[in-house]
Amino acid sequence: MTRLRPVVVVHYHEISLKRGNRPLFLRHLARNLARAVADVGPVSVRQRPGRIVLDLEGHPQPEAVRDRAQRVCGVASVLLGYRTASTLDAMRAVIGPLVEGRQFASFRITARRAFKTYPMTSVELNRALGAFVLERVNTRVDLEHPEVEIVVEVLPDEAFVAMDRRPGPGGLPVGASGTVAALLSGGIDSPVAAWRMMKRGCRVVFVHFHSVPYLPPISQAKARALVERLTEWQYVSRLYQVPFGEIQREVVLSVPGPARVVVYRRLMIRIAEAIARRTGALALATGESLGQVASQTLENITAIDAAAGGPVLRPLIGTDKIEIIHEAKQLGTFEISIEPDADCCTLFVPKHPLTRMSVAEAEAAEARLDISRLVESGVEGAALETFEFPTPVPAAH
Ligand code: ATP
Ligand code: MG
Repeated sequence: MTRLRPVVVVHYHEISLKRGNRPLFLRHLARNLARAVADVGPVSVRQRPGRIVLDLEGHPQPEAVRDRAQRVCGVASVLLGYRTASTLDAMRAVIGPLVEGRQFASFRITARRAFKTYPMTSVELNRALGAFVLERVNTRVDLEHPEVEIVVEVLPDEAFVAMDRRPGPGGLPVGASGTVAALLSGGIDSPVAAWRMMKRGCRVVFVHFHSVPYLPPISQAKARALVERLTEWQYVSRLYQVPFGEIQREVVLSVPGPARVVVYRRLMIRIAEAIARRTGALALATGESLGQVASQTLENITAIDAAAGGPVLRPLIGTDKIEIIHEAKQLGTFEISIEPDADCCTLFVPKHPLTRMSVAEAEAAEARLDISRLVESGVEGAALETFEFPTPVPAAH
């Protein structure tokens, strides 16, 4: 009996990797993979040509490692399988126990050689290993829609044999693209927007504006729950809770109702930028989607951006609400977002905000506000909370 050595093999989209970026991408990906599985048991992470291998010899929960690895940004697909020598006999010795006693109507072998000097071509490997399976199981080959796919990857000094390939999120590993500060409300859109930025390799710092004590602390708790959830994709998060109620009260005193929504947003942008500068973030991100609500017209977006000193990224700008909801459900943020809540933006907001506010109108509406004092009060009042995933195990004494 050969001893089975379980592994998770991680693939990424190589075509999207420019030569110079590849080492950095791989460093971040390997580090994030190690981090994502750190609490489920001992795993050694190895970079091999075209893939990253997680060795799980003696590991108590190989499936749990696979499930965690499957969610790491930058991962195109994962395979849970076994490592063996790169001889035909060794591969057969692994495939045998995998298929024996199992029933499947059809299968295919998908063999790949990571080096071209191997004595057999992939087609020859497919044939030889396919024939081996057909001798043991009453089944047939179906290349198009097989019930079972047996993946075989051959490297010069080792081979991997695995049964089913699972898709990852794709994208880039968190950290590879720098840091952004995301404006996180308690709503459905902004958590999805933040996740989209993570998927493009950004580390996300979160900024939430709340109206405590004018409103109960529900939105703060929702922001916390959302960040906790999203930390599963970036492992460490910072959330800045910014007191905004007093600022809103001052806005109400001098800004006419219909102009307030844009004025609130411009203040949020300025405060978030000041926080972003402190955290090394190079851009902001919001959950706006063009035309979704009154404040999200091209005119109002222009008026909001005029208050910004740097880029305001809007990853959902062209996404329909239905798609956003679908993604929120997959991320597990939807259930948190739909909890009833009196968002700070429902406080002191008129029924009919201006839908086409010019930059000049926005500036005129703000004329009587002491902008720098308001911004400073938000930045100074911000409370920092930190999150980790996996939850750190308390040190033993
Ligand atoms: P969401 O579902 O993300 O709340 P929305 O459809 O409610 O978005 P708006 O209320 O116009 O849209 O908010 C637009 C964006 O402004 C949000 O996606 C978010 O990025 C930011 N934002 C709004 N309110 C807050 C808040 N209280 N704290 C932090 N950011 C906010
Ligand atoms: Mg909202």
